[in-house]
Amino acid sequence: MHILSDEGFSLSKPKTEQDKPNQSNLVTFLLIIIMIGLFVLLIDEYDKKPLQADVYIQAGHEGRRVGNTGAVSSYGREVDWTIRVADEATRILRQAGVSVIRAPADQKRESVVRLALSIHFDGARRACSTGASIGLNNPSDKSAARAWKRIYREVFPFKWMPDNFSKNLKYYYNYRYTSTSDAELVLELGEMSCPEQARWMKSRLKKLGALVAYFAAQRIGASGVERPVF
Ligand SMILES: [Zn+2]
Repeated sequence: MHILSDEGFSLSKPKTEQDKPNQSNLVTFLLIIIMIGLFVLLIDEYDKKPLQADVYIQAGHEGRRVGNTGAVSSYGREVDWTIRVADEATRILRQAGVSVIRAPADQKRESVVRLALSIHFDGARRACSTGASIGLNNPSDKSAARAWKRIYREVFPFKWMPDNFSKNLKYYYNYRYTSTSDAELVLELGEMSCPEQARWMKSRLKKLGALVAYFAAQRIGASGVERPVF
């Protein structure tokens, strides 16, 4: 009887031997989870590092599928226009050796630059009730704002609205992501719901990009960017 029960014990032994692989599987699984966690943390840390360049150029509404996707008029979509202007300005500046962070609407990453520009076109409920305007959030931005107005007034033959005339300009959501030594400005280039303004702008989108590039180059003292002739 005793021998049998001993045999019984010895029979149960292999069972505990079989449990061991399961335990080491669990340890391996936990290690993999910890490693993935650390990897995600590292990626997250990397994302938080600020980007750096001479100039930051944002195309308003670019990449948005929901929320404020921009103005639309019978002349076109605002987002298509902002992309064309921002791309052309970026191309010209880079060609002149200026480093540019070319941002969409929601990059949500801190950018340390000298000058930050967000490109927009206005859409108004009452056609032709607005025009070109500027958004800024700091008194130190005023000198650059005046300089842009001097440059754009010479060619833009329509009316101007006061600086920060709308909440979207005064409290522009993207100001928080740009740290600048010169200025951060929202450039509303005109009202695209006004037929006269829309026609004028639509046929000059590339030139508007060239003018933005010229303005940025002037501000940071970069040479080799010509002032476009309108
Ligand atoms: Zn806009």
